[in-house]
Amino acid sequence: MAVHTESSSEALRTKRDRYVARGVSIAPIFAARAHGARLTDADGREYIDFAGGIGVLNLGHTPDAVVEAIQQQAADLIHACFPVAAYEPYLEVCRMLSELAPGTHAKKAVLVNSGAEAVENAVKIARYHTGRPAVITFDRGFHGRTLLAMSLTSKLVYKRGMGPFAPEIYRAPAPYPYRGISTEDALAELDWMFKAAVDPASVACVILEPIQGEGGFTVMPAEFIQGLKARCEEHGILYIDDEVQAGMGRTGTLWGIEHSGVTPDLVTVGKSLASGMPLAGVIGATEVMDSVHPGGLGSTYGGNPVACAAAVESLKAISDPDFLARAVDVGERIHARLHEMAARHPSIGEVRGIGPMAAIELVKDRETREPGADIAAAAVTAALDRGLIILKTGIYDNVIRILVPIAAPDEDLEAGLDRLEESLGAAAA
Ligand code: PLP
Repeated sequence: MAVHTESSSEALRTKRDRYVARGVSIAPIFAARAHGARLTDADGREYIDFAGGIGVLNLGHTPDAVVEAIQQQAADLIHACFPVAAYEPYLEVCRMLSELAPGTHAKKAVLVNSGAEAVENAVKIARYHTGRPAVITFDRGFHGRTLLAMSLTSKLVYKRGMGPFAPEIYRAPAPYPYRGISTEDALAELDWMFKAAVDPASVACVILEPIQGEGGFTVMPAEFIQGLKARCEEHGILYIDDEVQAGMGRTGTLWGIEHSGVTPDLVTVGKSLASGMPLAGVIGATEVMDSVHPGGLGSTYGGNPVACAAAVESLKAISDPDFLARAVDVGERIHARLHEMAARHPSIGEVRGIGPMAAIELVKDRETREPGADIAAAAVTAALDRGLIILKTGIYDNVIRILVPIAAPDEDLEAGLDRLEESLGAAAA
């Protein structure tokens, strides 16, 4: 039986304020149930969901095959702890991820519970393999909220008051052409860092998102990713590609890094991997992954059987060429509509992204590019009033990002974009 599904949003709000820690961001609505791109709140109001639980629902809410797999697996085996009594769904997810990850070389994987844990483990593996301590991270990068992952992360709201942070982390600039940081500038700064701040011979790994998710949907240009990889190869540094938000078809290819043609050394994956069940992983070349001694990786719940059953079905669906073709189509529709909106709404300073991982950066003035955080906040509220759930992002909180389920039917996609445009109009009024 579901817990208190009869409670109204108002009753739930009171309960939340009484019992849930203040540090957990406040959601404006309470979800009761959802399917596809539609979510119904505790008061029975329906929304089109352009947030997807922050990029987790590329297949939409409660995809039938995933729900069925979860139900079946829950009846057979909910938990055994993989290092205690192993089970096939874990093996199958590792097989699929190893075969699907970029590069034709032999790969292996480890499964964990969250994106942050995947990042932690990728760094552990890179340090173990190279015997080096340092990690290079990038401006505006987001890698999670555990101590190491938070230390790798840029945005202060995730870090304020929570230091001291993990040591041996060096932050380099990342391209942001709209705000004047080019690929050449960013690579030149990195070269300078290798002279002035950190010996590249002591660097275990770099970690970069191919499109920065929480950092404002800033696309890392192919030349930057290629230039970074070339420097990694020159200095024996491992390249960790954080695909937690940009992966799983979100950019129209299975992996965001595919647009650059670069094969990373380690990949972190999470979010849409299991359509909402908590599962994430690290994939890498067999000799890199196997450098860690038995017992050096793993956790109680990591690669839980039910989450793995959900991932097997999710991976099957997401890696299907028809699904990826649909993702490209959805991306083209979104970009076309956002460019039309930009022609009508001067608050849109830039339309950017790749495929369905698309965003608009809002500004108070197109000349000065002064960030329009208040416009973005007003647009998100106006969208909710119109039955659209949509999220902000970016260091300045002035970017509206689209994380619509890629499997959303055309009518939901178009209706959601209509509501977004109305909301921009309302925010400017
Ligand atoms: N890495 C990236 C790129 C992310 O976007 C996120 C979450 O938004 C994480 C890591 C952390 O994932 P989780 O919230 O599952 O720990």
